[in-house]
Amino acid sequence: MRPNSLHAADLAHMVHQQTDLDAHGREGAVLISRGEGVRVWDTEGREYIEAMAGLWCASLGFSERRLAKAAHDQMLALPYYHTFFQKGHEPSVRLAEKLAAIAPEGLEHVLFQCSGSEANDAAIKLIWYYNNVTGRPQKKKLIGRIRGYHGNTVATASLSGQPHMQADFDLPLTDRFLHVSNPNYYRFGETGESEEQFSARMAAELEALIAREGGETIAAFFAEPVQGGGGAITPPRGYFDRIQPILKKHDILLVADEVICGFGRTGHLWGSETYGMRPDMLTCAKQLTASYQPLSALLISDRIHAALLEGSRRNGSFGHGFTYGGHPVACAVALETLAIYEERDILGHVRRVSPAFLEGLGQFREHPLVGDVRGVGLIAGVELVADKATKAPFPAAAKAGLKVQEACEKAGLIVRAIGDRIAFTPPLIITEAEIGEMCARFRAGLDAAWAGLRDKGAL
Ligand code: PMP
Repeated sequence: MRPNSLHAADLAHMVHQQTDLDAHGREGAVLISRGEGVRVWDTEGREYIEAMAGLWCASLGFSERRLAKAAHDQMLALPYYHTFFQKGHEPSVRLAEKLAAIAPEGLEHVLFQCSGSEANDAAIKLIWYYNNVTGRPQKKKLIGRIRGYHGNTVATASLSGQPHMQADFDLPLTDRFLHVSNPNYYRFGETGESEEQFSARMAAELEALIAREGGETIAAFFAEPVQGGGGAITPPRGYFDRIQPILKKHDILLVADEVICGFGRTGHLWGSETYGMRPDMLTCAKQLTASYQPLSALLISDRIHAALLEGSRRNGSFGHGFTYGGHPVACAVALETLAIYEERDILGHVRRVSPAFLEGLGQFREHPLVGDVRGVGLIAGVELVADKATKAPFPAAAKAGLKVQEACEKAGLIVRAIGDRIAFTPPLIITEAEIGEMCARFRAGLDAAWAGLRDKGAL
């Protein structure tokens, strides 16, 4: 059989993830073939600034040779080993030690997986295990937030507040998954309500949910410091300060999902630091290896670790693990990534360029299509509206977000439309000059989409 051309083979055989499959069938896919710094090129030779760092993840851009060397060296030394049955290897031990050293206070123990979904899935399993071992088998419900995103396994898609990832998949899996409102102040704040008042209302809603369900049935609250897949939504002022005492009062664990925010995205090492969160568990992935290898980590406190020891005694073993969890090549790449972050002061760099990024995108508040721009560090969301004065959204059929995304791609810029919210999370190495270029291309895309929407009568 002769192989098809690349695009024909893609259409014939490749099921794309999180994709409008009809549109893919009509238009095919953009296939990326190489990268350099913050830029990527497709197979047709078109160049793009990758303002999403792939999926909020390629923190060191697309050509960091030191990471390739770290993987190569580790493959030659020990290409694979596991951490089952009292065995292990140096890269995973050194990485666990390093993560415990830089983690928020009290998170001393580390479990490795391959993806953000698996890290959150493991967190869910451990929470249930912990409450069984500590004699509270009724304390099992988990609270997520509408538009929150924690992954795509059966449990994590149930916890996420993304209806299209549940419909027809027979999810949520059980009635253990509860959701509170989306904390998007711009969209859901009431007229005359301050940000602090909005946060107080969100906290009161949580308190009411706990009262209704019974605190003794609720095990944990999961939150991304900044909601990524929900549309790059920064929490309103005072949000976590109000939420945390309520959780504490009912002995409900706080899980910080740092899969996007971890390792400098918000201008601190952890989003938890940026927002004063004191998590009992923390999950991270993506920027842990700059995404050059698939790896995630779940960090837990002594209190939870003690329950794992107790359960292991009771059951004869701690019955959880993945073949590739803590893969030595991925751990070696993670160690090199963390070394590069420190040597090049990536955190300092994020803080230095963040004003140019936030002010550059902030200019678009004046644009007729834009209702709100919000962000922190090097993550931002631009919310499109049909009417700035009333904040009226576009009808879904106008596909305004998608139009902007497509027009940006024509202008050489990869951004992500989440409904009518346009997300930006460029590689952390982006320079001020590249931010300027990113904003110029965004203006071209936004203006072109605006003209198109006007022509179609959506405005
Ligand atoms: N949590 C958050 C906050 C995420 O943004 C994502 C992925 N975008 C995940 C979990 C799931 O990670 P993965 O796709 O690696 O399974």
